[in-house]
Amino acid sequence: TVGAITLDKQGSMTAGTSSSGLFMKKPGRVGDSPLSGSGFYVDSEIGGAAATGLGEDLMKGCLSYEIVRLMGEGLTPQQACDQAVYSFHDKLTKRYGKCGAFSLVAMNNQGQWGVATNVEFTFSVGNHLETPQIFIANMGDNHTTN
Ligand code: ASP
Repeated sequence: TVGAITLDKQGSMTAGTSSSGLFMKKPGRVGDSPLSGSGFYVDSEIGGAAATGLGEDLMKGCLSYEIVRLMGEGLTPQQACDQAVYSFHDKLTKRYGKCGAFSLVAMNNQGQWGVATNVEFTFSVGNHLETPQIFIANMGDNHTTN
């Protein structure tokens, strides 16, 4: 999965993802990436978030929506990412005894950004044409479920 959140000079924000899904996925499987709220979410008056990782677990928490909701309550993007990712990881681990790997990036409508993961992942922050962007990229090696 790759994901992006952008902010233009007029203050409009976008979020998007593109994914091949999980390796060896069953035909017809729909992961989190195309689902607003799970794989991505944006509200130009607050900010946006995008996810990568085990879609079956990401969808249980609607983490992209949750991060934007937390930013709307006044948390910085980093605080919102930390709170959403770590508390959801703890919740799944307590409930099921395990938790899939997932990683999220977020940016608010001031161009401040944050990231959090329960594994390792790759991200980049850009300023092309003086408009902030943050990108998430999953190279396909963080889908373990333990
Ligand atoms: N989240 C994607 C899915 O579960 C996979 C990925 O991030 O690479 O379909």
